[in-house]
Amino acid sequence: MNDMMLLAREITKREKETGKNPERFGGFISRISKAEIHIHVESLMTAADLLKLNGKYGLYPDCKTEKALKEALGIKKIADLSEMIEQFLTIQSFIKEEDDFSLIGDSILPYMKRNNIFYLEGHLAVSSFVKRGFDFRRMMTSLDASLEEIARTEGRETGILIDVSRTFGPENAMNNLNLLLDYLSSVKKSRILGIGLGGAEKSGEPVLYREVFEKARKAGLRHVAHAGEESPYTQIYDTLEYLKPERIGHGISAFQNETLMDELAASGMPLEICPTSNLLTKTFATRMEDHPIAALMSRGIMVTLNTDDPLLFEVELNREYAQVYSHTELGLDDMITLLLNTVKATFMEEEAKDRLLARITGEITEELANFK
Ligand SMILES: [Zn+2]
Repeated sequence: MNDMMLLAREITKREKETGKNPERFGGFISRISKAEIHIHVESLMTAADLLKLNGKYGLYPDCKTEKALKEALGIKKIADLSEMIEQFLTIQSFIKEEDDFSLIGDSILPYMKRNNIFYLEGHLAVSSFVKRGFDFRRMMTSLDASLEEIARTEGRETGILIDVSRTFGPENAMNNLNLLLDYLSSVKKSRILGIGLGGAEKSGEPVLYREVFEKARKAGLRHVAHAGEESPYTQIYDTLEYLKPERIGHGISAFQNETLMDELAASGMPLEICPTSNLLTKTFATRMEDHPIAALMSRGIMVTLNTDDPLLFEVELNREYAQVYSHTELGLDDMITLLLNTVKATFMEEEAKDRLLARITGEITEELANFK
């Protein structure tokens, strides 16, 4: 164990006796550079963005303020994952014309800055746009231009995974993959890295998407899949078997099965955990105190920390870290492990990953020296 982790353990031990210091942690976490790897970029648009689109198209004519609009959309009032997906599709439907699409790309950098994020990997769910006649190539070109601008002006890196989506069935998913392959074959450089499988977990068994993932894998695309946010641990097994993903989105139901937890730990399979999302979709916990994140980490599983949907869940990455620190048994040392795991689980090139890890380690070491 290196000096930084030894010191973090020491502080954690002390905090077990004296109690945690959420205020000090809040300052600490906001100053540390971070990565995030499970976030749906449509949900980086703000309520102010939606209000503008609402004014342009008169979607909810009575809503003149952000508060009224959030109320009308039922933000944070969902009953389960299916309702959340409905809400997500409603938010997407605010983007009526291709010209509005650049709002999504424009919303990424402000979020990264607010949370001191230097590498962000997000999902984009293209199905509803494609179905409404948006041109896939033009959407990707616009997004790639936004991401290039973020790198050029801010030195922050990004990657996008196209959500082939289980909400609209396997044929639609294959169509999304084919559109992506066609786009990637025509450009020299792109930050669109591969595919993800999102959407209502109960509506599509992983086996249905086996061919889509096989094709993506053979084409050298990165590939991840949501499983185990509302589905039982058996769906995580099926996802691993049929889709062979490089990471599991959520995967929290793994806590139901000892053997699966051991297998996940042994294989180093990263879980992209988004606690607030899990609490609001309510399947396995409704209070942070009851979330299985600490149980999964204590088994040695590679857990990463993410927000999923900032707009819909009113969550930000800094706050997510603060909530987990304040309301679970995880200590400062565990929070550092989460910070580092999330970078290690990214699809960055090794050299860039090492650079970011070194930078974060340096920042943490400096901060810990002030933890008296
Ligand atoms: Zn997600």
